[in-house]
Amino acid sequence: DAKENGRNRRSFFEANMEDHVQSKDKLSRELRMALKNDELTLAYQPQSDTAAQRIVSVEALARWTKEDGTVVSPAQFIPVAEETGLINELGLWVLNKACAKAHDWPDVVMSVNVSPNQFKHPRFVEKVMAILATNNLAPQRLEIEVTESVFAGRNDTVLKSLRRLKNLGIKVALDDFGSGYSSLSYLRRFPFDTLKVDRDFLSDMDGNPEAEAIIVSIIQLGKALGMTIVAEGIETIEQIRFLQAHGCHRMQGYFISQPLNETDLAKFLEDFKKEHGGDFGREFAFK
Ligand code: C2E
Ligand code: MG
Ligand code: MG
Ligand code: MG
Repeated sequence: DAKENGRNRRSFFEANMEDHVQSKDKLSRELRMALKNDELTLAYQPQSDTAAQRIVSVEALARWTKEDGTVVSPAQFIPVAEETGLINELGLWVLNKACAKAHDWPDVVMSVNVSPNQFKHPRFVEKVMAILATNNLAPQRLEIEVTESVFAGRNDTVLKSLRRLKNLGIKVALDDFGSGYSSLSYLRRFPFDTLKVDRDFLSDMDGNPEAEAIIVSIIQLGKALGMTIVAEGIETIEQIRFLQAHGCHRMQGYFISQPLNETDLAKFLEDFKKEHGGDFGREFAFK
């Protein structure tokens, strides 16, 4: 009867909850070991200037392949690291590795993602300074990406840390703009160097006048505020043409390149220079 069904449904739900908690627990334990055993790596995704067609920056993205070959996506393990506090250790590992590698590619800025809990660590800025010093990297070579969620809750210390980073000469980017609880007041309260337009707008773009209007306004708004605008998730030549026509400064996405390992990135940077270098102003030359 109905009551019986209700009870079954509840126990089914509870069992699932337990599974969920257990797998998260397990993932977190495995992640801790992975960090210790050096099983994490970084992939680097190139970001191109729209007009000049040169690679101006690369975004470091964490990668984890388990011993048995299973790939765990950062969309899965970063939230777990955030919840368990492991994000501080993980994030410092990423920063350190990215800053060390930055010397291999002197022409590009190294962008690193920082999660809210990592960013809110009381000694975060000091740790970044220490990592730059250890790796002898100029602060201008580093960009820190935060998302709007870093502003949730009390955020006076967040603003203070953002200012400190900027005063040190580190670039600061607002990532995934427009995807969360966007508020334009963040843009007024802190002068981000870079605004990354969330790839949802770009995937919605094709022939959709609303999505196109939003992209165009974000570009204009960002420009009026003196920011560098980056469009994320570029997958088609039509998107590139659109962004070039509307003066978007930079773009990142599979059409330009997937995230690459160190060896492939070195090769990509060289090839890209050969194909596009010095071709300033030539339109639509991406192929
Ligand atoms: P994100 O910072 O917005 O990074 C961009 C994500 O979009 C990357 O996914 C990238 O592979 C993907 N992407 C780039 N171009 C395209 C495209 O043309 N089409 C599509 N469909 N996707 C594209 P990934 O590497 O899986 O990372 C997902 C998210 O995980 C990142 O989003 C970032 O929020 C987080 N993440 C990755 N590495 C780190 C890290 O080291 N620290 C922290 N705190 N977060 C990280
Ligand atoms: Mg990012
Ligand atoms: Mg993003
Ligand atoms: Mg994203």
